[in-house]
Amino acid sequence: MSVLVVGSIALDTVKTPVEEHADLLGGSASFAAVGASFFSPVRLVGVVGDDFPEEHIGFFRDRQIDLEGLQRAAGKTFRWSGEYHWDLNTRETRSVDLNVFEHFSPELPPAYRQSEMVLLANIAPKLQSQVLDQMDKPRFVIADTMDLWINIANEDLRALLPRVDLLVLNDSEARQFTKETSLIRAGRQIRALGPRFVAIKKGEHGCLLFGEGAFFSCGAYPLEDIHDPTGAGDTFVGALAGYLSAQSGTVGFAELRKAVVYGSVVASYNVEAFSLGRLRSLKREDIEGRYGMFRRMSHFEAFE
Ligand code: AMP
Repeated sequence: MSVLVVGSIALDTVKTPVEEHADLLGGSASFAAVGASFFSPVRLVGVVGDDFPEEHIGFFRDRQIDLEGLQRAAGKTFRWSGEYHWDLNTRETRSVDLNVFEHFSPELPPAYRQSEMVLLANIAPKLQSQVLDQMDKPRFVIADTMDLWINIANEDLRALLPRVDLLVLNDSEARQFTKETSLIRAGRQIRALGPRFVAIKKGEHGCLLFGEGAFFSCGAYPLEDIHDPTGAGDTFVGALAGYLSAQSGTVGFAELRKAVVYGSVVASYNVEAFSLGRLRSLKREDIEGRYGMFRRMSHFEAFE
């Protein structure tokens, strides 16, 4: 079963206190599609300009990502630039040039409309709804969002939520959205707006999963070398969607818990290099190796 991924495809310029790189492959859909591709076939919907390097198209193809839904428009590709501070958890956006993304209207090729697993990666909630309007009846819908949409498209986001099975957002966004200081209350409040499940990411401190009367707290893999956190959240949700898509039957809390751990594992690899650099050489057995380490680390009974 394929995962349908819709989102931004960008050329990013990223600065950390020690390095700066320009025009890197980025965008929520790029990280998410490649993250998902380790587990499941992927269909990508997005837009690029006529300056988008062929090399990146080749990389998507090498990952077996179906590009029938990729639009090529006249003009420049969406560009984003961000700068990280020393803790690498805080980031400032330096510039955003929407370019061809400004008039992006997601159009699903007929073959995509029956996709059972849908990942609405970070784009305007109105566009996320527009994708669902074109779908037959997906088995599971995941949506990601960001502070920008909570600020400028709050009503659109609220209209989307009853159509979503899992909403993924980070801790500061969950607080901003619900005006709650407690993440536990925030998770509960967001679920009351529609999604069966909510995942709240806490950067280097892991992730909380809420749903169906159950709760799961997943730690983050303890990394010594973080080079570029850009796209960690997108890679997380992409791998999570890919893992779920590869499972049969209905998605319940137990499957989602495992999917969150797989998402955390793939995200932990992604931050080891700029852009999608680390994912280029990543193998499924590397993922399984770190998944095993994760399991052993979180079995605290072993120390009793
Ligand atoms: P993350 O680090 O998970 O927040 O994702 C960073 C990625 O999001 C970068 O590759 C950007 O190109 C992309 N991005 C930044 N702003 C937006 C936006 N307004 N809409 C869609 N994607 C964006």
